Amino acid sequence: MTVYITNSMSDYSMQEKKIQVLTQANVISGYIAQYQDLSGETISFLLQQQQLSADTRVLMLDNDAKVTFDSNVQSSYVGKTLINTIVLDALSGTNQTEEIRNSEGELIVNAAVPITKDKTVVGAIYFQSSASDVSDYMGQMSVNLLILAVLASILIGVISFVMSGIMTEPIRNLTQNLKNLTEQDLDYKLEVSSGGEIGELMDSFNKMIDKLRLQETKRQEFVSNASHELKTPLSSIKLISDSLLQTPDAPREMVEEFLNDMNVEVDRLTRIINKLLTLTKMDNQQSVSRLEFSVMDINAIAANVFKALKPLAAQKGVNVTFNGEEGIYSLVEHDRLWEAIYNILDNSIKYTEQEGTVMMTVHQDENFAVIEVNDTGIGIASSELYKIFDRFYRVDKARSRETGGTGLGLSIALTAVELHGGNLQVESKEGVGSTFKITIPITLK
Ligand code: ADP
Repeated sequence: MTVYITNSMSDYSMQEKKIQVLTQANVISGYIAQYQDLSGETISFLLQQQQLSADTRVLMLDNDAKVTFDSNVQSSYVGKTLINTIVLDALSGTNQTEEIRNSEGELIVNAAVPITKDKTVVGAIYFQSSASDVSDYMGQMSVNLLILAVLASILIGVISFVMSGIMTEPIRNLTQNLKNLTEQDLDYKLEVSSGGEIGELMDSFNKMIDKLRLQETKRQEFVSNASHELKTPLSSIKLISDSLLQTPDAPREMVEEFLNDMNVEVDRLTRIINKLLTLTKMDNQQSVSRLEFSVMDINAIAANVFKALKPLAAQKGVNVTFNGEEGIYSLVEHDRLWEAIYNILDNSIKYTEQEGTVMMTVHQDENFAVIEVNDTGIGIASSELYKIFDRFYRVDKARSRETGGTGLGLSIALTAVELHGGNLQVESKEGVGSTFKITIPITLK
């Protein structure tokens, strides 16, 4: 910028100088043109009146370019011929200027203007003026601008350094926090010290860490619950087989009874493992994407489940009824939805005493298919209601075990219903009964 400003100013000043020199030369030429005959004294007198600076030299030339007057008496050019481009131009009627450096390196501005009498060029004025004032001024100006540029650079440098420090502080803080986080697992919480976007980012990180922490806790809980659930039947099998081994001459009836008990435990193990597999499949995005959905009659699926469980109800002495509305279609994965309805109806029958009633209905509510299972069973306390969908959660462990429960039925049902974009609600009163309601979006035909 300094170079650019200096150059521009220098060009401008030189242009001004040239105009000034040309104006002076024209004024003199104009005066001279008014006189018929001119003596050297007359010209000197005219020049004195112009108050020209000491370093200005004025030459007068006739139209053969011969010098007829020279203001520099010591090394006068009078009588000599002065030919150069600007003189030739002036003698052909044009004003001209040029800038040159003399042998001492001093900047000089030359101007040549024609002397015109009765529209005829009769000679020329050759004007020589030192431009050292311009170059001195520009020299000083360059130094000042350079000092200014250096000072401005230092100032900008300091400000940039301080500002970048201030601006990158939150990012450094974030980086440090993230480093701490990776070193300290999920126990670490980012300290949100800055506002704005970085603050928001750290806040989001904290929320994400909370979610991960929760997921990790759930995962650990799930693994420990699963291990425990699998361990119980295994321990029973071990106990039974040990007893059998220690009683080599056990009577046949006893052996049969032990083997039967073992069989029950193996069935339980199989049930748990199958349900775990179902859940894992639904948790896995890849397996979910492989599921095949098709448009099906919801009523037909529910009726099928009802048919499958009716014998169990009869065996338990529970009255079951089914009331379905045909022609409600949804995009479903048959096996998942079938299992969800099955688990809910199975629970209602299991948790309803003899003579109790279980009613299943299917109807359409606006754009949703609703499958409702209502029982007059033991009900669920409100403090337990929000937990029953958790994996392995059972209100009464002993009772659930007796009925072959695994604590996974409702979580499978919930995951399956959510897979269909629907929801599963429950209303229950202890000792009165429960109502489970599956709602899934319908497909308009
Ligand atoms: P389970 O295999 O033990 O039935 P679920 O996940 O299906 O496991 O259900 C979780 C718990 O919710 C059950 O153990 C039971 O305590 C309670 N529950 C589920 N359905 C009913 C119902 N219809 N009536 C009473 N309690 C129920």
